[in-house]
Amino acid sequence: MEDRVPARYTLEGVTGAEVSVHPFATDDGLGLNLTRFRRADCDDVVLLLHGLTASIDMFIMPEHRNLVTVLLDNGFTDVWALDFRMSSRLPYDAETHRYTLDDIAAWDHPAALRELRRHVGNRRVHVIAHCLGSVSFSMSLFGGALDGVASLVSNSVSLTPRVPTWSRCKLAAGPGLSEYLIGLSYLDSRFGAAPPLTRGWMVSRMVSLFHRECDVRDCHMISFMWGSGHPALYEHENLAPVTHQRIADLLGPTGVHYFRHIRKMVAAGQAVKYDPADPRHAALPDAYLTRAGGVATPILFLSGDANRVFPGANASCHEALERVRPGLQEFASLPGYGHIDPFIGENAHVDVFPKILDFLQRQTSRASEPMSAAPLVTPPTKEDSRASAASEPMSAAPLVTPPTKEDS
Ligand SMILES: [Zn+2]
Repeated sequence: MEDRVPARYTLEGVTGAEVSVHPFATDDGLGLNLTRFRRADCDDVVLLLHGLTASIDMFIMPEHRNLVTVLLDNGFTDVWALDFRMSSRLPYDAETHRYTLDDIAAWDHPAALRELRRHVGNRRVHVIAHCLGSVSFSMSLFGGALDGVASLVSNSVSLTPRVPTWSRCKLAAGPGLSEYLIGLSYLDSRFGAAPPLTRGWMVSRMVSLFHRECDVRDCHMISFMWGSGHPALYEHENLAPVTHQRIADLLGPTGVHYFRHIRKMVAAGQAVKYDPADPRHAALPDAYLTRAGGVATPILFLSGDANRVFPGANASCHEALERVRPGLQEFASLPGYGHIDPFIGENAHVDVFPKILDFLQRQTSRASEPMSAAPLVTPPTKEDSRASAASEPMSAAPLVTPPTKEDS
């Protein structure tokens, strides 16, 4: 669309909507943010979840027709996007920490939905989630940490992470090498800009030796940090030139400890708790698929057929869930797409977003049918009701039969 590099954290990619920011805190003491893009109240609210090192920016990019705009233009006029602790808009990824996906499942998504419900009451909430946002949200949902989700769209990976062989090697050796040998608790896509001969500079130059596919060092680092390929996270030809140029604005630093949890899940073949003995997460199951039969949320699984970060993961999850809750999930392969370009690609609005819209529209029409077989509730449409909804339970909609856990 345009060649100008947009300002970092810009909101200019969404026009004609009232934008508001809603900070909230998790039970373990982190400040997170919800950003709301609202044109009008509607019965079907959409919540967007980024992946590790990304942020809400992946959904509101000015250089292409972004997902928030497409949703707003197609009747979903109240769209929310969450920056949780993996967001590059927040400082946590570049701090020394020992967070796991269990922490996010237990604290980030439940707190976000509580805050969301304060504003939208019991309207239907549909979630569109990418990468580890999808894994962690699915862990919350299937682990019983939250309920009342009308539908879920999951891109790339969910409860059955699968990675290529080279990624397995990196997951095995990476965290230890990084923390104990190189002395870095996080890796930064901008290491190429570090002063010469510093650790970050040397890591970047070493990585670039093996990445001759383009001349953007940030792109090389991102391929090194995640996945297996040249590049690993997208097809170059799917990105607008300016997106490739500013890729580090969209994918920032990442703490290496998360890799240990992913390694454990890959070894187990499914999402499992990092430390089953951790008393803080006693309410969550040791393996997150064990309660799947009790969750009735419809899911659309997406995966690019050139996915080199979690190839085959969502097809596997679709199969696994189809065995225990048949008919409640669909799978759509995205020809020519990789891991994250289904959202940040220049033509995602042509190739990908219509599939998401079609799924969402079917969920809303199904929910609106009288005497629908699905136990969906059409909640009363209400104005933004901060005060009155503050004390409500998260949802009255009996969409999920979770192992009982009061979440709000
Ligand atoms: Zn590149």
